[in-house]
Amino acid sequence: MHTNTSDPWGDHFSDAERALLAPFVTDIDAPVFGLRNMPEVVRGALFSRYSRSDKSLRRILLDEFIQAPESGFQAIVATSADDAASQVVAVRQAEAFYERVLIGYGDDSVAELGGAHIACESVSNIAAKALEESRIGLSPLEKSTRYVAFNRKVGGRYRYLREATIMASSHAAAFELAMDNLFDTYAALIEPVLAAVRAHSPRENGVSERAYASATRAKALDLLRGLLPMATLTNVGLFGNGRAFEYLLTRLYASPLVELTGLAGAMQRALDDQIPSFVKRAKSQRGRDHQQYLRATQQAVRALVEEMVTGHGAESESSVQLIAFDPDAEQRVVAAILYPHLDVALAEARTLAEEMPANERAALIRTYTGERGSRFHRPGRAFEEARYTFDVLADIGAYRDLQRHRMLTQERQRFGIRHGYVVPPEIDEFGLGAPFRAALERAGEVAAAIAAELPEQSQYAVPLAYRVRWRITMNLREVYHLCELRSTPQGHPGYRRVAQEMYRQVAAVHPILAEGMRFVDMADYPLERLEAERRLDEKMRMRDGS
Ligand SMILES: Cc1cc2nc3c(=O)[nH]c(=O)nc-3n(C[C@H](O)[C@H](O)[C@H](O)COP(=O)(O)OP(=O)(O)OC[C@H]3O[C@@H](n4cnc5c(N)ncnc54)[C@H](O)[C@@H]3O)c2cc1C
Repeated sequence: MHTNTSDPWGDHFSDAERALLAPFVTDIDAPVFGLRNMPEVVRGALFSRYSRSDKSLRRILLDEFIQAPESGFQAIVATSADDAASQVVAVRQAEAFYERVLIGYGDDSVAELGGAHIACESVSNIAAKALEESRIGLSPLEKSTRYVAFNRKVGGRYRYLREATIMASSHAAAFELAMDNLFDTYAALIEPVLAAVRAHSPRENGVSERAYASATRAKALDLLRGLLPMATLTNVGLFGNGRAFEYLLTRLYASPLVELTGLAGAMQRALDDQIPSFVKRAKSQRGRDHQQYLRATQQAVRALVEEMVTGHGAESESSVQLIAFDPDAEQRVVAAILYPHLDVALAEARTLAEEMPANERAALIRTYTGERGSRFHRPGRAFEEARYTFDVLADIGAYRDLQRHRMLTQERQRFGIRHGYVVPPEIDEFGLGAPFRAALERAGEVAAAIAAELPEQSQYAVPLAYRVRWRITMNLREVYHLCELRSTPQGHPGYRRVAQEMYRQVAAVHPILAEGMRFVDMADYPLERLEAERRLDEKMRMRDGS
């Protein structure tokens, strides 16, 4: 018999028990180990016992799961991984099992103990944004408009959502014509734009043809993405925990858009095959009440706002405006820097920070920021004490990218044509501005006509070149992250400008706090991807040993 004398739980597993445990844990003796070969809901159920048991996890697994015939555990894990039908049966059994284990133990956070990968294919950009609106607990990845050309037809048709409500309306024909025209223009411009990019930025010595071809193609597709409408179909992969998925489903079910409610149903079916117990409340009475709450409040607020506010104007220039910041941010941050190193109340730390000479405060902030070797060296949580609110008006393409940040609060207005569109200066330099603008104008007219009748659905017709307004509130730590990440040379110029402007405005009001943002890149680059492609060449050379 093996005994694990170092185990503080005093677990002693017999050889027979070790053999039973072995398939399900990555290590039988070490205090740190992983679970394997069991469905997600069983892993979740097992972890949920931590809060109510004095036993070690391996002991619980053995006594209450593997060796408890009533748990059905053996039947659940005995199914062959190759056999899809038995996998489904296993998950069903696991669900029933989970219900039994969790009765009396479960709190909402138990649904965070299991996760799933869900692929959402052929969804519109409207749906992609709704999926990516999630923050805690979900990690999305989406097809890139930079690396993938969206000119492919399937069955003779471009790949955009013929949205059901629009297609059932009198706008159907105009919508299709305008969308086809956008894609025709996009497809027709790829080669001329690529040729012009190459002519304007010829390959320099030392740059490989591979790196140059990738960088110039990425640039051409970046320049053209403004022509793609929000109806453009894309693929989004999501990894997340059950609780986050449940909330996402609830939000999608509450949407006025049929694509989103349909997507919620399809996702629910996919999740039911993997983590059913964790997401079933999204469609229960509790979930329906939650959906109704979201729907009703959104509708009521919109109606009230329309009644209360009339005749508001519209700006049309792209802008980033710092709307609010803490005038005493330095003192707040310094109090938070002092706090863990003293044993005084926060109020007293605040007084100390306020009474401290400015040069001492600056010295503390500089020491706290330290010598940052890269943008990954982010200052600590004291920087979360300073908050900034921005109002941004920029093209939807830039919004689409910046919306992916999660450690902040963002909210947009409806996609529409009120604020006009942005044509990349290069498109005009290449003499291709006329067809670019014509396609945008035509789609804009159709979007406006649809908006008069179907405001929510009209958003599908709006191309990414049109501007949208959104608000962002974030703390200084996220300002560091966003401004440094989104100004890297390989970024899209649309959001690079927003990030650079945010940096400028924060530095203007809080120069000492912004001093550590050393990795904001304020330069412009003709071929944004080139340096990254060069580095890739270098890595490939190292890998190949040449
Ligand atoms: C040049 C470039 C190209 C890109 N290309 C693509 C693309 O092709 N497809 C695509 O889908 N996206 C792409 N993105 C978006 C990218 O994947 C991120 O979604 C986006 O940059 C947000 O960054 P973030 O997660 O670091 O920031 P935030 O969400 O603001 O998070 C800030 C930090 O908090 C931490 N954090 C936040 N959430 C989590 C979490 N769930 N788990 C662990 N840590 C977390 C991380 O440290 C993170 O850096 C691209 C981004 C850039 C800059």
